[in-house]
Amino acid sequence: MSECFTVAALRLWPVISRHLQGTRACDNRFMPRPIRALMHTQAMRHNLAQVRQAASDARVWAVVKARAYGHGLVNAFHGFRAADGFAVLDLEEAQTLRSLDWRGPILLLEGVFEQRDLEWCSRLDLWHVVHTESQIDMLSRHKTQVPQRVFLKMNTGMNRLGLAPERFRSAWARLNALPQVDEISLMTHFAHADDQVGVEAALQVFEATCHDLPGERSLANSAAVLRHGQQPAVVADWVRPGIALYGSSPDHPEHHAAHWGLRPAMSLRSQLIAVQHLKTGDEVGYGGLFKAPHDMRLGVVACGYADGYPRHAPSGTPVLVNGVRCHSVGRVSMDMLCVDLTPVPAAQVGSEVTLWGLATSGEVLCIDQVAAAAGTVGYELMCALAPRVPVQVDE
Ligand SMILES: *Cc1c(COP(=O)(O)O)cnc(C)c1O
Repeated sequence: MSECFTVAALRLWPVISRHLQGTRACDNRFMPRPIRALMHTQAMRHNLAQVRQAASDARVWAVVKARAYGHGLVNAFHGFRAADGFAVLDLEEAQTLRSLDWRGPILLLEGVFEQRDLEWCSRLDLWHVVHTESQIDMLSRHKTQVPQRVFLKMNTGMNRLGLAPERFRSAWARLNALPQVDEISLMTHFAHADDQVGVEAALQVFEATCHDLPGERSLANSAAVLRHGQQPAVVADWVRPGIALYGSSPDHPEHHAAHWGLRPAMSLRSQLIAVQHLKTGDEVGYGGLFKAPHDMRLGVVACGYADGYPRHAPSGTPVLVNGVRCHSVGRVSMDMLCVDLTPVPAAQVGSEVTLWGLATSGEVLCIDQVAAAAGTVGYELMCALAPRVPVQVDE
């Protein structure tokens, strides 16, 4: 754990990350439990460069909502400084970025939630999405000397946020007439970003509705940029990648992260804290869900669902022990999970376990594979990283 102390020596970050991100930093009072999450800022830089390449000339919002998909907003800020802007969900995230001295664009992806949020938009110089008439009403009541830049969002079939195409132009005209509004950009979000037909359908609705309106356009998330980056209409002026920046493939299992040249930005590592010698028929964990089919060595890992590891991960979920691919057995419990050590006879108490991401040996276990085994997506696992897991920043 000596790396933890090195990190603690970088005094500022542990303090910032604990207070601003609600995550625990390594601390030199006690040896923490061996689990830790490493945030690889170099991989973030690399992934941003990959996405930028796929998006040709478009400007790139680094989407850093949800504590930067669990990576910590401050860490992500350092990883994505080369982005053209940051896209966030709430004012606190925007304020944190300004406090880190980010002077570039910040976009509120769902816009404002109440009238007084507009004061903060003025104070923090935020751009914001307008997806509903009531946000236009709020803008019309906002008292400001400095008009605001807005992104008017169209619903092109996802039916979540955005104005219906038939109401879009009147909303645009209303906004355009407001002294509170400066530039109006046009935006939508694909319901089927990985599917060519779905993207075409949404594009058609979007273009048919606003082809003659002025303003910059933003349509693409990670999947759309990576899969349809050769289509100028998809890439448009601003792209909004999130998941790809963190090294997860947006269209797993069709394509793996390596196919897109992405590297994991988060590694969840722990250690074996016990080794058991099972005889044929011995059971493992609550409910005895796993029964040893033969004599075997079993490793007990200091990682459970209270750390954010998915409880639904069944026996057979991949885990790296000393960089060697093994699999979990039995039920994941709150603080522990178990691994069949058959592929790695040298493993012992203290051996490194990589739950996802990069092992010290350089071996990678894609978060997408763990997520798929547990019936979910990389997004959810990243976001669920628990506050009790110490975070270590790996340059
Ligand atoms: C979260 C979000 C994104 C990023 O999506 P990814 O699939 O993570 O790339 C883009 N646009 C909007 C509106 C979002 O809410």
